[in-house]
Amino acid sequence: MYDVIVVGGGIIGCSVAWQLGKRGKNVLLLERNDSASGSAGATDGFVGCHTKKPGPQLDLAIQSIAMFDEIMEDLGPDIDFEANAGGLQPVEDKEQWDVLSQMVEKQRESGVDVRMISAQEACRLVPGLSPDIYGALYSPTANKVNPLRLTFAYRRLARESGVTILDGVTVTGFTLEGGRIKAVQSDHGEFPCGTVVNCCGSWAGKVAKLAGLDLPIKPRKGQLAVTEPIGFYMRPTLQCARYNVIKFHPERIKDPTVLRLGSSMNIVQTAEGGLVFGGTREFVDFEGENTFEAIETMAKRVLRFFPQLKDVSVIRCFSGFRPYTPDGLPLLGEVSSLPGFYMAAGHEGDGIAMSPITGKLIAELIVDGAPSYDISSFSPNRFLV
Ligand SMILES: Cc1cc2nc3c(=O)[nH]c(=O)nc-3n(C[C@H](O)[C@H](O)[C@H](O)COP(=O)(O)OP(=O)(O)OC[C@H]3O[C@@H](n4cnc5c(N)ncnc54)[C@H](O)[C@@H]3O)c2cc1C
Repeated sequence: MYDVIVVGGGIIGCSVAWQLGKRGKNVLLLERNDSASGSAGATDGFVGCHTKKPGPQLDLAIQSIAMFDEIMEDLGPDIDFEANAGGLQPVEDKEQWDVLSQMVEKQRESGVDVRMISAQEACRLVPGLSPDIYGALYSPTANKVNPLRLTFAYRRLARESGVTILDGVTVTGFTLEGGRIKAVQSDHGEFPCGTVVNCCGSWAGKVAKLAGLDLPIKPRKGQLAVTEPIGFYMRPTLQCARYNVIKFHPERIKDPTVLRLGSSMNIVQTAEGGLVFGGTREFVDFEGENTFEAIETMAKRVLRFFPQLKDVSVIRCFSGFRPYTPDGLPLLGEVSSLPGFYMAAGHEGDGIAMSPITGKLIAELIVDGAPSYDISSFSPNRFLV
């Protein structure tokens, strides 16, 4: 009999399992494939506050990003965490400038080091950037990380803290008794337990359904491409301003193709020298193929800002699913109609940055009965009547 079964072994499941194991719980983590098979294996590694919406999301992100300092020694040196790499968002016109300026003002009120800068200043920070821009948003304290290595660092820590991890086990149902969780059913048999944490990312809605819960988490596809290594090119992470506009003010996007693809531009250079670029946000259910339309749109968008890259080869494309929720906030906490059933899912495009705090708060909630930070805005019960 396990104290807690964590379902889903992506970055969130591994972080939650580690924090529970560290607090002395007897934990089983069940993953149907492997830890990199969900979005943890198909994502960028932006860890900054300037891409977060002012309010509960930004406030939680501030707590989470600050936690990297605390857990860095545990995570170890191999995760390619680059503190203060900087985050830049080139702006193309006055309308984008106004939208971002308003957001920046609110982010600054929450204590984020972020400001609007001139085109010249932006080009000094990233010399390859086209000067044909209106200006830029800049956050010098934004960080970057290798998301795969971070996921596997949590997984190693979970194991070291005594968590049992079983890959290749698909959860197929839950056994309830007297309105409580009694066991997890799987294609490898039944595992008795008193508590379950659903960390299934984009699939968390489907897994919740197995317990009779209707939760509105759905996949939002993002396509990415990687170039050949090109030697040092840029230190900051970059998204065009349209990235934030699509994320927070989609109603302002008039072009139907841009809206359908959710196409903006993000680009980051990895420690190995390749450029990872992308920037689609598509609702196509779990259709995961790369499409020519998206890759071409993304590449054109990169060349709009970095014309010098026109002869650089793309060596690989892939896609992942962001776990989308209608209000843009994750679901964190216990389902009040089903005691013992917890949600830790729905982080959309922010799950890498939010992974430290999610593990900690969910573990505190389960072990101590209350988290050290108020997570009521993220309660799964907001979607359940
Ligand atoms: C293109 C793209 C770019 C992104 N960029 C960033 C970024 O720069 N910064 C950032 O912070 N975030 C980013 N994100 C978001 C981030 O990747 C996600 O929020 C995060 O990975 C979600 O982690 P997760 O553990 O909840 O989900 P996942 O990693 O998807 O893990 C869920 C796991 O559950 C397992 N599972 C599902 N069903 C079952 C079942 N029935 N039984 C057992 N196991 C099951 C799956 O196999 C999977 O491994 C990006 C996402 C995408 C797609």
